[in-house]
Amino acid sequence: MTEEGEQGRPAPDERRAELAEGLAAVRARIAAACAAAGRDESGITLIAVTKTFPASDVRLLAGLGLADVGENRDQEARPKAAECAGLPLTWHFVGRLQTNKARAVAGYADVVHSVDRPRLVAALSDAAVRAGRTLRCLVQVSLDEDPAGGRGGAAPGAVPEVAGAIAEAAGLELGGVMAVAPLGPDPLPAFARLAGVAEEMRRNHPDARIVSAGMSGDLEQAIACGATHLRVGTALLGGRRAIVR
Ligand SMILES: *Cc1c(COP(=O)(O)O)cnc(C)c1O
Repeated sequence: MTEEGEQGRPAPDERRAELAEGLAAVRARIAAACAAAGRDESGITLIAVTKTFPASDVRLLAGLGLADVGENRDQEARPKAAECAGLPLTWHFVGRLQTNKARAVAGYADVVHSVDRPRLVAALSDAAVRAGRTLRCLVQVSLDEDPAGGRGGAAPGAVPEVAGAIAEAAGLELGGVMAVAPLGPDPLPAFARLAGVAEEMRRNHPDARIVSAGMSGDLEQAIACGATHLRVGTALLGGRRAIVR
């Protein structure tokens, strides 16, 4: 039995070693997938999705050279970002976002991946202007055949409207697209569809080059389909306990 830190968590040195191991394994997967796809690793940004894990893990990851972290709930992200203020990190908000949380999120997030409707664009724009910040926004695309799939996101046909609204909004910058693959055995067709939506967006918005796709279980397929940003939780940080609400 190794020494335990506060609240039954592993001691910092032990946790640091675990995270270093996770990071090395994920980087090796990224390298192999890039080699297979004939892509350069410099085109990939790895975002550590730290939801349910403490700010101390964010610090350790930053110490290991990770520059991007992702969170999916404002009530958890806000204090964590505050605790990590001063670290050289880019904060990504990747979860469903209600308009009444836009102001809070605009206070700490650098990139919002989950913009899927014009009303949210308006709320984020207001919030960014008030905060004197620029938020990079991605249009979340729904890749579910079943629109009641419940993962959020704009239907592909609605993407140009949301993208146009972001591009014109004060305080916002259109970064590209984001998607979560629908449940199922093969994420490739969904990621290929996302690549098509991204390509079409770039026709009107050539600087919107981000394709946020790929998580612990499907990052290889996402890289094969042109993902630029991977959102990885479990493979880096370990299994999440039940979310405390
Ligand atoms: C939790 C989460 C991830 C990370 O998922 P893992 O399977 O743990 O890598 C990625 N994207 C979003 C939107 C998430 O909520």
